[in-house]
Amino acid sequence: MRKALSHNTLIRRVAIVAGLLAFCTHLGWSQSKLSVHWEELTAADFRSAIQQSQGTCLLPFGILEKHGPHLPLGTDLLDVRYAALHAAAQEYTVVFPEYYFGQIFEARHEPGTVAYSRELQLQLLQETTDEMARNGCKKIIIVNGHGGNEHLLPFFAQSQLQKPHDYVVYVLVRVETPSGGPAAKSTGPDWHAGEAETSSMLIAHPELVHQDRARSESGADLGRQKLPDDLYTGIWWYARFPNHYSGDGSLATTELGQFKMNAWIDGIVKATRAVKADQESLKLQNEFFEKAAHPLETRP
Ligand SMILES: [Zn+2]
Repeated sequence: MRKALSHNTLIRRVAIVAGLLAFCTHLGWSQSKLSVHWEELTAADFRSAIQQSQGTCLLPFGILEKHGPHLPLGTDLLDVRYAALHAAAQEYTVVFPEYYFGQIFEARHEPGTVAYSRELQLQLLQETTDEMARNGCKKIIIVNGHGGNEHLLPFFAQSQLQKPHDYVVYVLVRVETPSGGPAAKSTGPDWHAGEAETSSMLIAHPELVHQDRARSESGADLGRQKLPDDLYTGIWWYARFPNHYSGDGSLATTELGQFKMNAWIDGIVKATRAVKADQESLKLQNEFFEKAAHPLETRP
């Protein structure tokens, strides 16, 4: 039979356990349990989260648009959040809630597309990053999940030089899938809701993929504009892919999806580590803003 613990022994043991807990907290072990979701943190935990992330935050950027006949409207949003949240679980950052207020005028003819005005897109994004920075996110990585944002986001980053900011905007426009993965079967363009994107969705949200409907519309390139490649028009996409579908989603596989998704997650982790280590960008921005206020005094 076990002997009952004496009062002193009990107090000593409680003290040892309390000491161990304090030690673990000191090492940051309890902090590692902080959610990466901005909206799930309490105000006090948010303070710890910003400290743990070294002021580095992710803004995954999706869209609401048609994705062929077989994928959900929020495909880009669902995919980019899947990748960003998995990356943040590997390399801690605070991840901003659902954001889908980007450039998608070219799909306004399709049901379910939400296309905010040009002015609102820029203003909302600026106020969002301003508010993130005011809350301690001094390094903001916009993780892009939507092809239609590929001009908007670099322009937004460039426009941060218009006036002084105490934070840096980094844009991860796209992460290329490295070679060496499962061979893709597509022979033509596979740019929207086709083999590649459908494969990624089979990983992020397989329950939302209706692959049996993927051939009910054509994702073929109609090539209806006869112009040199170096001439750009806003209607180019519609000229080529009027169904807002490029490629063939029926060719998708989970193997390709897993390979692409892993590459995307790795790319975000790498970007996050590089941004955390970056001590130059903010310093250079400050130097630039100082000179920009007195351009006549700027000497080579
Ligand atoms: Zn998409």
